[in-house]
Parts: sequence; C-alpha cells; structure tokens
Amino acid sequence: MSDAIDVDVLVVGAGPGGGNAALQCARKGLSTLIIEDHSEIGTPVHCGECISDEAVANLNLQLPEEVISKRVNGIRVIFPDGTEKQLTETGYVLEKHLFEQWIAQSAVEEGAELALKHKLTSMERIEHDGEFKGWRCDGKGEKFPISAKIVIDASGVSAVCSRFIKPDGSNPLNHKGKVVAGMQYELTDVPTDGYLDFYIWPKYAEKGYLWMIPKCDGRANVGLVTEDRPRAKKALDEFIEDTHFKGLEQKLPPWKEKGNPAFGGTIPISGPFENTHHDGLMLVGDAAGFTSPLFEGGSHLALKSAVFAAETAAVAISKSDLSSEMMSAYTRSWKAEFPPYDKILRGKNALFELSDEEMSVMATCFPDEMSDMGASGKAMVGLRVLFRRPSLYSKKIVSAMLAFGYSRAKYYGW
Ligand SMILES: Cc1cc2nc3c(=O)[nH]c(=O)nc-3n(C[C@H](O)[C@H](O)[C@H](O)COP(=O)(O)OP(=O)(O)OC[C@H]3O[C@@H](n4cnc5c(N)ncnc54)[C@H](O)[C@@H]3O)c2cc1C
Repeated sequence: MSDAIDVDVLVVGAGPGGGNAALQCARKGLSTLIIEDHSEIGTPVHCGECISDEAVANLNLQLPEEVISKRVNGIRVIFPDGTEKQLTETGYVLEKHLFEQWIAQSAVEEGAELALKHKLTSMERIEHDGEFKGWRCDGKGEKFPISAKIVIDASGVSAVCSRFIKPDGSNPLNHKGKVVAGMQYELTDVPTDGYLDFYIWPKYAEKGYLWMIPKCDGRANVGLVTEDRPRAKKALDEFIEDTHFKGLEQKLPPWKEKGNPAFGGTIPISGPFENTHHDGLMLVGDAAGFTSPLFEGGSHLALKSAVFAAETAAVAISKSDLSSEMMSAYTRSWKAEFPPYDKILRGKNALFELSDEEMSVMATCFPDEMSDMGASGKAMVGLRVLFRRPSLYSKKIVSAMLAFGYSRAKYYGW
C-alpha cells in the first residue's frame, strides 16, 4: 500500500454533508482529505436554497453575509383550491453555492485537504491478519490511490460507496430507494411577502409540490419536485404559464454563464438506508437517504449527520477500532435525533391518496397559522373534519396531517 496517500478520513463529495464532515473531522485533529468530482464546489446548484433558523442554531453556524440571499418568515402551504395556511418559522434563503464553498473553505482552514476534480470509482478493503484496517480507494484524479482508515460517503443521491461494498459477495448497504426529479428556474421581479410558497397541486407535481422561494433583488427560485420525472420540465412550464408567474423573465442564475436556465437534480424520497454504516464507513446526507420526505429538505440533515459521523470517526480512530460495531454509534446518533420517517412517509402517502377536493377540505379545517397548533388546536382540527367531512377519517387524514407537523423546521423538514 506504500504507493497510496494515507489519511485518517476520506470524505467523498463536497456538498453540505461532505463539507461539514471534513470541517468537523479536521477540528477534531483527524487528517482529512475531501474529494469532489466537480471542478468547483456547489455548482450546479441542485437546491431551493433555504435553511431554517432552527437549523442554523442547531448547527451553530455563523453565516457570513455573502452566503445569505434573503431573510424569510416561513412557509405558506397553498392547497389545490387556493386555500393558504402558514407555517411561520423564520430562516434564510442562501446563495447555496457560496454557502457550500464557505463550509469547504472553513474545513481547509481547519487543516483538511481539498481535492477538486477527484472522482471515487472503487474501494477495496485493507486487512491485516483478518482485521479490517481501512479502505484503499481509487478513482480519477492525481491523489489516487488513497488509503483511508475511515471513509465518509457524502456523495449525495449517487451514494457511490454503497455500490462498492461487497464483502463476501454481499452488499450490506445496497439500497433501492425511490428518487424524485427536482427542477427550477430563477425568475425576476417576483412579488413576495417573505414567505416560501409551497403549492400542493398534484395536477402539476405528482406526489410532490411546487415552490416559490424568494431571493434578494426580486429574484426567486420557482420549481417543483415530482414523481413524474419525464414530465417535470413541461409541468413546471405549464404551472408558470397558468399562474401569476407567467411572463416573468427567466434568468441564468449567477453561477451559470450559459445554457438552459432550468436547473435541478434528483432527491431520495424513501427515507434512510436500512444500514448507514459498515467497517470504516459511514453514509451521510442524501447518500444515506436522509432527505425529509414531504418537502424534500435535506441540507440540515446532511450537515447534522456529518457532525455525528465526525464524532464517531474521532472515537474510532482514537481507539484504533474501525469495526462496523464501532461505526454503529453513528447510526444510533442519527436515529435518536432525526424525524420519524415512517410516520412522514405514511402521512405523505395518505395525503396523495386524497383527491384535490378532499385535500382542500382538509386544509380549510387547519388554523391559518399551523406552526404551533398544540393539543387544543389539533382537537379543533379534528372536530372541524368530523363536522365537514367525516368520511375523510377513513382515508387516514390524521396521518396526512401529522406529515405536515413533522415537516416543520424543528423536525428537520426544511
Ligand atoms: C431541486 C432541488 C431543490 C431542493 N431544495 C432544497 C431546499 O430548499 N432546502 C434543503 O434543505 N434541501 C433541498 N434540496 C435537497 C438538498 O439539496 C440535498 O438534500 C443536499 O444537497 C444534500 O447534501 P449532500 O451533501 O448529502 O449531497 P449533495 O449536495 O448532493 O453533494 C454531493 C456531492 O458529492 C459529489 N460526488 C458525487 N459522486 C462523487 C464521486 N464519486 N466522487 C467525488 N465526489 C462525488 C457531487 O458532485 C456533489 O458535489 C433540494 C434538492 C433538489 C434536487
């Protein structure tokens, strides 16, 4: 193995998960190398770019001015008949590429090494006398081969490391979750009162939603996520054509010099992998499937899972124990804190089994402000549903309502 560069931790991918994993590992004194496939961090942007105050406080982030585009008040959910309900929870819309560059730069300042244009393509176990000692990683880029005691897979939805792990011919991390397509435009002169507008309009976004996320100078991301991937762009164009967004100028976002103004990506929506660790390996962020199922927010989850992974890495290396059992501390940490995915997924499924009309009836039973309903508020919603449309109870409407509750910022929803 003498030809390989030796590090304590190799972080694969420099999105929010990878950047923060490298930052936290470097702060703990681990020799850390972070590799990124692209030649620049954060582009192309594949995010609506919002992050809540809850997330900023939970992660103890001191956001520099230049990464902030706009302060926002929270979310307004707009149901198919136009009924509007607010979830007031303040936060920020970021210039996400600058945010990711800031995190990675902070990691470098703390001692991590960053290698752009480096793509991991294979991993092999290193064993001495039958004991696991790390991973020999190979790929495209001059730093390869790299020998790492621990690999943190922060490669996003591609979850590259989960494809390579095949001890004894099996793959304990194999995961066949569903993904949805996300796509947006940056529009100009978009009217806003500082809320993110989330439209639950299945006509355009099948089992997804559409958004208007306001930015500075009248700019806004207007986009959608949908399970109907082939129709994503057409559906978004139709939505814009049919609404007050019609005729607004589609601009190239600041990080894009030419080409199609639409940008986006894919998002995992099946919840976390059954197994997010292995010998000397942890999966964080989208690579672990952490995205919140209803509103598809994943940045907070990626950033926080990176904190847990770095904590586990530091203990494992200090004890020279890289075993899967040691890495399981990581899985226990996120399981203790992250939202109840099964409940949100159940609720999301129940929501999209409702017709547009039933969804709208449900919405009219909600209070105008949904952020702090409390027990009496929930009881009131229950009574209203009973009075207006009791048959909705047989359609698991309670689960659908819970999905909204668990999609708040405090449950990592956005
Ligand atoms: C259209 C859209 C809108 C969204 N809006 C929001 C939002 O408003 N708020 C929110 O919180 N979340 C949002 N999300 C989700 C959010 O973007 C992700 O959850 C978040 O980026 C996950 O971070 P990550 O670090 O895990 O992965 P990513 O951000 O995907 O980063 C992974 C990185 O790994 C690199 N990589 C991949 N393979 C390799 C390899 N083999 N070798 C080296 N590098 C590799 C990639 O180039 C990439 O830079 C949105 C997603 C989409 C698609």
